[in-house]
Amino acid sequence: MAELASAPRPGDPRPGPEGPGPEGSHRPSGILIVEDEAELVRALRINLRARQYEVMTAGTGREALAVAASHPPEAIILDLGLPDIDGTEVIVQLRQWYRAPIIVLSGRTSPGDKIGALDVGADDYVTKPFAMAELLARLRAVLRRDGEPGQGQPRQARIGRWLIDLTAYQVQHAETGEGGERETLRLTPTEWRILEILLARPGRLVGSAQLLTAVWGPGFQQRTNYLRFHMARLRRKLEDNPARPRHLLTEPGMGYRYQP
Ligand code: CA
Repeated sequence: MAELASAPRPGDPRPGPEGPGPEGSHRPSGILIVEDEAELVRALRINLRARQYEVMTAGTGREALAVAASHPPEAIILDLGLPDIDGTEVIVQLRQWYRAPIIVLSGRTSPGDKIGALDVGADDYVTKPFAMAELLARLRAVLRRDGEPGQGQPRQARIGRWLIDLTAYQVQHAETGEGGERETLRLTPTEWRILEILLARPGRLVGSAQLLTAVWGPGFQQRTNYLRFHMARLRRKLEDNPARPRHLLTEPGMGYRYQP
């Protein structure tokens, strides 16, 4: 539990552009923690407040639904094992109107629970026990997605030594070669589609079912072997060391993540 109570380190990055800035903010504000373990609520509250997040808490699913409805938070951190309603059901009800990020926090480790939570609309999943720094990084990532609506998605990204241009559909070596030419790389349309989805959500988990539906269409949610095949090929093309990928990460049983 010691890691849960870690103090903020000096120089820790601010929550991001959506954090309370000097000019103030009119966006939905505050992080809602839905958790029935008092110790964990306390640790989360301390760590979030230390990073200038406003914090609201709810100890049950019903309370969570009521608090979210009266003060829509900019993100929700939600435990699945709640005393009244199951956390998954809370997500289902929230998603009828709530669009901002939901990060699930749970001691349940079966892939079925994780996939279930992602399928009903959670944005990410952190398994207990977790490092506070990891949860905060996930929170920043999901908030970044929501931070600039209408800004569009980043159209360029870098993976290892490659520059990916999602507008021109080109992959070029970051360094020019001897003759001033840049080496280029060819990707298949399927590989481009997968990359577009992952790169649009830097740092965020994208569930396998979501990725399969987006690339192949409804009815392909179970074809995780398709993803394994194409992700392996993408890694061989783009990662400096495909056996130890640093950017195109697998979250076993859950999905994939582009780590910038
Ligand atoms: Ca619990």
